[in-house]
Amino acid sequence: MQLIMAKLSKHITLVYLFMYCLTLVVSINLLWQHSFQQLQTSNQQQLDRFSRHLESQLGHFAFIPQLLSKQGIIIDALMSPHNTAQLDLTNRHLRSINNIVGASDTYLLDAKATTIAASNWLKETSFIGDNYAFRPYYQDAIRGEQGQYFALGSTSGRRGYYFSYPIKYAAEVIGVVVVKMDLSLIEKDWIGKEQHFLVSDMNDIVFISSEEKWLFKALSPLSDKQRQAILSSRRYLEKSIESVSIKGDLQQNASILTTANKKPFSNYYLSLLSVSIIQDWSVRVFAPIAPIIIDILILFTFISLLYLLLYLSFIVIKQKRNRFHEQALLEIKSKRELEYTVMQRTSALQAEVEERHKAESALRSTQKELIQSAKLAVLGQLSASISHELNNPLSAIRTYAENAVLFLERNQLDNVSNNLTRIGLLTERMAKISSQLKSFARKPNGELQVIALQPVIFAAHELLKPQLKANKVNLTIELPETPVNVRAEPIQLEQIIVNLLSNALQSMQHSDDKQIIIILAVQLEDKQDNKPLAIIKVLDKGTGIDKKYLSHLFEPFFTTKETGLGLGLSISQQIISNMKGTLSAQNRPTTGAEFTITLPLVMNSLLNESNIMNNDRSKGQS
Ligand code: ADP
Repeated sequence: MQLIMAKLSKHITLVYLFMYCLTLVVSINLLWQHSFQQLQTSNQQQLDRFSRHLESQLGHFAFIPQLLSKQGIIIDALMSPHNTAQLDLTNRHLRSINNIVGASDTYLLDAKATTIAASNWLKETSFIGDNYAFRPYYQDAIRGEQGQYFALGSTSGRRGYYFSYPIKYAAEVIGVVVVKMDLSLIEKDWIGKEQHFLVSDMNDIVFISSEEKWLFKALSPLSDKQRQAILSSRRYLEKSIESVSIKGDLQQNASILTTANKKPFSNYYLSLLSVSIIQDWSVRVFAPIAPIIIDILILFTFISLLYLLLYLSFIVIKQKRNRFHEQALLEIKSKRELEYTVMQRTSALQAEVEERHKAESALRSTQKELIQSAKLAVLGQLSASISHELNNPLSAIRTYAENAVLFLERNQLDNVSNNLTRIGLLTERMAKISSQLKSFARKPNGELQVIALQPVIFAAHELLKPQLKANKVNLTIELPETPVNVRAEPIQLEQIIVNLLSNALQSMQHSDDKQIIIILAVQLEDKQDNKPLAIIKVLDKGTGIDKKYLSHLFEPFFTTKETGLGLGLSISQQIISNMKGTLSAQNRPTTGAEFTITLPLVMNSLLNESNIMNNDRSKGQS
């Protein structure tokens, strides 16, 4: 399962990577095409505007020399070149024309190319007296043609565009009038734009540029021959022309150029070319591609971030799912472990329960044995008085029998009958003692039944009567008249009372005032839980219980007697508690001990008469 998941996740990652690359390629391509198209369109428009501006600016001056060549004042000046007044007049005229048309300089050359009048005649850089025979515009005009030429001014060093026209008189060229235009005027409105506008000559040397860095730079490398020709034309005077290293096809109408520029992305340009109608000039616009590249980079970053975010979300969800899965597995595992532990514990508990059951039944049987032993121990203690009790009637019977024989021999039948009746009564008494002993020694059946307590107390008393008599103990029994009913096992209860009486008897062995009181009472309202109770108290005037033994009295095998077993009280307490009652001991305020049995009272009204034990002993006397 995990292997499949790992393979699946590897596949998903690959698909995701593929999707990422595809999105990048498609979106970057779309953006590039769209932006490039837009750049091209807008820059083409700009280039067209620039070209038109250039042509209109130049065209503006093109006809000025022709107009001037027809003016009489110009011809007059050429006709009388030494007339200073005439020349001064011409100078002023040229200056005013120059100012009106906004040209840089306007001047008049004689047939030998020497300046005889100029609009700047008053300035330091005045052309007056200068010879321009080397300038092509002069050479064209002297041949009778209109001339146009670009060059750096030899006096001013400023870029100028020269318009020349021949001045004819009687079909002969007598001079040349020249209007020079300042080319920086053309750049003025195009400086500071994002794109660069360039005008270059046939050698690709830039002489008009909205960006200064391109000015007087050759866009393509110049050969030595070209350099020589440029120098000799003095177009750029002595200026050294540097070549810019450009990669890309400059002659294409639209192409991408790369220049050597250290700034990132700023070396890429879209170049648009428009060939000017003026001579062999090339008009170009260089539009930086950097904004598109930046847009592409932004798009790239955005897509990458988006994919990264998606990927991270995917990873987080996957991890969460894994963690959830692991947690579920852990829960299942711990549940299983718990179940296993519970099973183990259950089986251990079952074994323990079984063990306890066994121990309990063993205990129960041991307990029964112990009760029996305790009873037998009591019987042992009682045996002397019992044998005395039996021996007395026996010897009386023997005497009555011997006397009966004598009375029979004397034929005193009344006496015989009297003796036999006494014998009968004595045997009856002996049988009663024996049956009581038998009943005491027998094992109880353990079943609780509703019994009246009075007969049980009588039976116990009856059993101990001989011993009490032998020890000269005075026993008082205080009983209520109405039967006090409880749910108990009568034989066990009788045995407990016998045990208590026997203990009381033993505690008074050395007392002068041997007195036992048995009190049976009813407490209708218990202080704690309002349950009515039957209370049996056995009070003696014996030694009492040593304080230090009080808390150990009911412990099994606790005894202070040499021949004692220490089982009587502990067994009695247990039996009473099985009957939902209590057995407690305390010292009497004066002398002796007081043992109290409480048992839940069964109210008479709830009783069915037949439930009440009504054996013959219940009718016994106190
Ligand atoms: P045993 O009689 O074999 O000693 P019991 O459990 O009947 O065992 O009694 C435990 C102990 O309680 C006795 O050894 C005795 O010290 C004390 N005891 C019991 N009844 C009395 C009593 N009426 N007066 C004084 N001490 C008593």
